[in-house]
Amino acid sequence: MVTARELVLSRRPEGRIDPGCFTLVQRKLPALLPGQLHVRVDCFSVDPSMVPRLSADTYAPAFGLGAAVEARAVGQVVQSTAEAWAEGDWAVCWAGWRDHAVVEASQAIRIEPRSGLPPHTWLHVLGVPGLTAYIGLVVVARLQPGDRVWVSAAAGAVGSVAAQLARARGASLVIGSAGGADKARYLTGTLGLDAAVDYRAGHLVGQLRRVAPEGIDLYFDNVGGDHLEAAIDLLRTDGRAAICGMISGYANGPAPGPRNLTQLIIKRLRLEGFLVLDHMHRWAAFEEEMLPLVEDGALHSEVTIFDGLESAPQALLSLLDGAKLGKALVRP
Ligand code: NDP
Repeated sequence: MVTARELVLSRRPEGRIDPGCFTLVQRKLPALLPGQLHVRVDCFSVDPSMVPRLSADTYAPAFGLGAAVEARAVGQVVQSTAEAWAEGDWAVCWAGWRDHAVVEASQAIRIEPRSGLPPHTWLHVLGVPGLTAYIGLVVVARLQPGDRVWVSAAAGAVGSVAAQLARARGASLVIGSAGGADKARYLTGTLGLDAAVDYRAGHLVGQLRRVAPEGIDLYFDNVGGDHLEAAIDLLRTDGRAAICGMISGYANGPAPGPRNLTQLIIKRLRLEGFLVLDHMHRWAAFEEEMLPLVEDGALHSEVTIFDGLESAPQALLSLLDGAKLGKALVRP
């Protein structure tokens, strides 16, 4: 019988996330019922949406106290009682913050790591962050060839894919913003974007105007607050914004709203929020477009892996303080 280690939420954080809110617990894995998989977790995901769910309901219920934090993971099947699954298969599943998990096979997705792509690719560019970028850009903001595009949090999981996909789909100008000079260099160097803005250097609108003197047609918002206000200033007539996330308000409550909303009327702007969960039926179209880009190396995928189950709270904090590059993952 296998003993699994898991990190449970033992109390709700008040203000900043405190690693003391989590407790390491050991539990014996139950025997498999029919249709289940025992998965050894290779990596699990930490996502910005987890931050508010430590304290309260959002579009999904708050995490339960005394339970392992829910998270998508990639791992290898150790034992199966499900038809068509065998030991050694790779699965994406909701294993949570654990090193071993029992999951329903009906809710797991089999992946076939190939072309040397590491399995965690399916938690990033070929997973939910990649799909989020694709939906925001293609379905919600309806990117057109020639568009001038700004993507915020562009050195992160969703943003890095959105910015590179905009380039691959023929945007005439792609600007990324991120925190710090190193990340700005990463955006123009490794990701090949036309321009980068360091939001920590201040004067966001001024910096943006220098790199996009004619304005932008499309804004992909991961941040909200001052970034959204700057985008409304920069957007041209008939501009569009995909409102994907507002991370600037997740830890300390909503940032002050944009003060320039009358420009929506004057410039006939369209700002549209979306949830990727409503678009799972578009997975095949997404994969058809993304897989060749990833396999050819045309789409760069960066991950920061935090080692050890105990590092999960620190990994979650890295989403807020920027102490990571690309997709943040934990290897338990
Ligand atoms: P990231 O990997 O981008 O990590 C979050 C990044 O946000 C950090 O690296 C940091 O960037 C940046 N950040 C944090 N606080 C601030 C701030 N105050 N101002 C500016 N930037 C800040 O996370 P994801 O790619 O997973 O998620 C990006 C966004 O997409 C989030 O808002 C998330 O909620 C949203 N999302 C929405 C979905 C949907 O269905 N609508 C689905 C998935 C994600 P830096 O390092 O540059 O400082």
